[in-house]
Amino acid sequence: MLVYWRVFAFLALLFLHSRGAMREKIVDFTHHDYNAMTKILHTFATKYPSITKLHPLGESVQNRILWVLEISDNPGVHEPGEPEFKYIGNMHGNEVVSREILLHFIESLLDGYQRNDEEITNLIKNTRISIMPSMNPDGYEQAKTVPRNDESERCTGVVGRRNANNTDLNRNFPDQFDENKAAVESGLQKETLVVKKWIDENPFVLSANFHGGSLVANYPYDDTPNKRSVYSATTDDDIFRKLALTYSSNHPTMHLNKAQCVGDNFKDGITNGAEWYSVTGGMQDYNYVRSNAFEITVEVSCCKFPSESTLERFWKENKKSLLEYLKLVHTGLSGFVKDQKSERGIEGAEINVLDRNHPVKSAKDGDYWRLLVPGKYKVKVSKRGYFPVTKNIQVNDGLATKEDFILQPIGKMHLKQDEGSTNLQEVLLEKKPVPVGLVIGLTLVCLIALSLTLALTIMLVSKYRNRGADRKAQYAAVHTEP
Ligand SMILES: [Zn+2]
Repeated sequence: MLVYWRVFAFLALLFLHSRGAMREKIVDFTHHDYNAMTKILHTFATKYPSITKLHPLGESVQNRILWVLEISDNPGVHEPGEPEFKYIGNMHGNEVVSREILLHFIESLLDGYQRNDEEITNLIKNTRISIMPSMNPDGYEQAKTVPRNDESERCTGVVGRRNANNTDLNRNFPDQFDENKAAVESGLQKETLVVKKWIDENPFVLSANFHGGSLVANYPYDDTPNKRSVYSATTDDDIFRKLALTYSSNHPTMHLNKAQCVGDNFKDGITNGAEWYSVTGGMQDYNYVRSNAFEITVEVSCCKFPSESTLERFWKENKKSLLEYLKLVHTGLSGFVKDQKSERGIEGAEINVLDRNHPVKSAKDGDYWRLLVPGKYKVKVSKRGYFPVTKNIQVNDGLATKEDFILQPIGKMHLKQDEGSTNLQEVLLEKKPVPVGLVIGLTLVCLIALSLTLALTIMLVSKYRNRGADRKAQYAAVHTEP
């Protein structure tokens, strides 16, 4: 009898334990509106205080908070040498799958760290990861009011796409090719300004933003000068193709060469943004043109607001892609730019890969990251007040090739007082010492010129005197003395 009780007690414990484990999971496979999402993010921050920090980054038009959950072994600060990464979901309020998969992704990272998963622990220790599950919480609240049985509106409609001012946030960023009239007319929206400031003030290296309505990884440029839908390549096209392919090829169906959603068929599951359709004022182009960050735009579901029963499948489909894409932040070329004299890091130095015309700038501690595909590159690092340094560098596959640049200060005496120009060549010309030979030569020329002038003067004076004596003699000959 005792044996039976023991078995019963063991099974009961096992059952309770498994229930407990289920309860421990923070995110379930349901749709989470603003209040539910906010609660989950606070729970993450409370449960994992040593590796998370929840930032209320700013507010939407209807004063909902744009939350960012930061994951790092030292949250709240930029650690020298550690690259920064971000994911932004739910930019269009009715494209909701990314909001859910990003919540699950956060939990998988936090849980992985707690379980001592080697890969995830290494990532969290060496990366500052920031995740904004929803950039358009107002749009989401509107989209969720569409009845669940109105599948047509939920999957392909536009209710909740824009923010509360009826502005499309992915057309609202400053654009490289024109004044972006749409943005000027409606003004940069609160949500845009919050994210723009975040991009401007942090040294992000890699990023992605998520959408719904298709299944493809889309890379810059999104726009063209004449708004025509043609391939609009950056000088980093090879890198962007690799970034997009990493996402699509780790997804079970995105990379398959067949139509995934109605009307779409992208080779290998990737596309240049403008080749698909030209977008003015998009966020990915803003990241690339105005900051160090390389960003792609990923469409993760054909249906924009699918039923809850599909959410687990979407999470499983994107889990590996999300992780593999994040790992790319540790590829390419990275290191520090330092002052040779003080040995301190130089902020704002330009790291320019020749022929790419897309310099990135070093961060506060002189740390820099330049994504590159494996190959040989000529890299020039410059900063006003220093002699530039150029190196030939072999960038390898896998983890980033490390290369530091030590810059020699030019010295204040040689810097022009007129600081209108930042042309280093001018500064270098100022610095050149005057050759000794030139000085001696010029002195000799001056001496010879002086001697010649003197000789000529003496000659003229004596000639004038002689002429005066002659005249006196002539005068005396004509006139007799009184
Ligand atoms: Zn979208």
